[in-house]
Amino acid sequence: MGAISAPVERGENMAEHINRRTALIMLGTGGLLLAAPGLFADNRRTRPVIEKISKSEAQWHRILTPEQYRILREEGTERPYSSPLNGEHRKGVYLCAGCDLELFSSEMKFDSGTGWPSFSAAIEGHVETKRDHRLLYPRTEYHCARCSGHQGHVFDDGPEPTGKRWCNNGLALKFMPE
Ligand SMILES: [Zn+2]
Repeated sequence: MGAISAPVERGENMAEHINRRTALIMLGTGGLLLAAPGLFADNRRTRPVIEKISKSEAQWHRILTPEQYRILREEGTERPYSSPLNGEHRKGVYLCAGCDLELFSSEMKFDSGTGWPSFSAAIEGHVETKRDHRLLYPRTEYHCARCSGHQGHVFDDGPEPTGKRWCNNGLALKFMPE
């Protein structure tokens, strides 16, 4: 009897084990389904591919101030603490000064203490990044996805939950209060 009951016991244990696994898988699927609407909403929001615009140097010179041109078109950097946007705390959106594409919302802004307007996230799909080796240490440069105008650099020492610090030139942005 003992020889028969042992496999049965093992069988029961296995069934229990399988049930637990199934429950876990179902829980996992439930979680995925709960998360899915958010994912789809995000995809829909960012689906329209940003159509690039290009202008001649002369056209950019006409649109931008010399200081804006130096930053946006020549990857310049403004003096820290020089931008009035450092102290901007109203609700609204931050647009690219070159082409008015929305790059950040006021909810993404935080006081980094660096002297440049800083954001913990950027509007998905509206900025592009590239590796910048102009200093001794490599940095990640980012620019407007539409007009390619240089905005700033992104670092990994930002606040939770993103941990990112998008360090932006104030002159490369236009603030639109809500
Ligand atoms: Zn732009």
